[in-house]
Amino acid sequence: MLSIKNLQAKIEEKEILRGINLEVKAGEVHAIMGPNGSGKSTLASVLAGREDYEVTGGEVTFDGKDLLDMDADERAREGVFLAFQYPVEIPGVSTTNFMKTAINQVREHRGEKPLDAVSFLKLMKEKMKLVDIDQSLLSRSLNEGFSGGEKKRNEIFQMAMLEPKLSILDETDSGLDIDALRIVSNGVNALKSKDNATIVVTHYQRLLDYIVPDFVHVLYKGRIVKSGGKELALELEEKGYDWIKEEAEAAV
Ligand code: ADP
Ligand code: MG
Ligand code: MG
Repeated sequence: MLSIKNLQAKIEEKEILRGINLEVKAGEVHAIMGPNGSGKSTLASVLAGREDYEVTGGEVTFDGKDLLDMDADERAREGVFLAFQYPVEIPGVSTTNFMKTAINQVREHRGEKPLDAVSFLKLMKEKMKLVDIDQSLLSRSLNEGFSGGEKKRNEIFQMAMLEPKLSILDETDSGLDIDALRIVSNGVNALKSKDNATIVVTHYQRLLDYIVPDFVHVLYKGRIVKSGGKELALELEEKGYDWIKEEAEAAV
């Protein structure tokens, strides 16, 4: 589904990604971990198509298409979901209305008819149950005055509604309390299917007590220096990142 080859990127003349290689297949959950400043958020942002990063080398294909050639909106229409893509507050526009527009854009792109009101409501109900979100939250202006947990819940709800092929969640180091961890992990686990894939970017081993990844990759100084199964996350929890740094430095 996603194939990243020797991806390099910089920001403000600073080289951040120095040759990332990663293959993600349908049905898989990948965790990207690593010490602070190793480039995790940069990788997520580059995959999202955020424009402040300059890709200086490498290739990324998504379902065989050149992802780097698409702008952020096109990527979304192709089925790539980025959790931080919609953090904006939109006064006067409810989540419900926002989602109606977003879904119909995706459907139009796929050559499908817009959802009628009844089908849309049915889908809303189904997904509300799945991610355990309250109707009242969905009627409020998008993200306006939402607490951290509500934003998180809303984000996972958007993901559930859009049924992306590839979800990329950048769980930044701050603000992930135990409730947020549960919301994110329940959502990811409930939405997992053989047709979609998820990349969870996190500094926290703790998240992986809830989301069981198929693969864990450790990013250090802009490269994936170690990959393994879920046991790698447990090893990191126990031993921290220092041994990874030592191994990586020794290999240079
Ligand atoms: P992580 O998510 O792994 O903590 P980031 O991708 O956020 O790492 O950052 C990687 C490196 O890029 C860090 O050294 C950081 O200081 C730098 N960086 C990130 N964003 C910017 C920016 N807007 N301007 C300059 N440097 C940046
Ligand atoms: Mg960081
Ligand atoms: Mg980060």
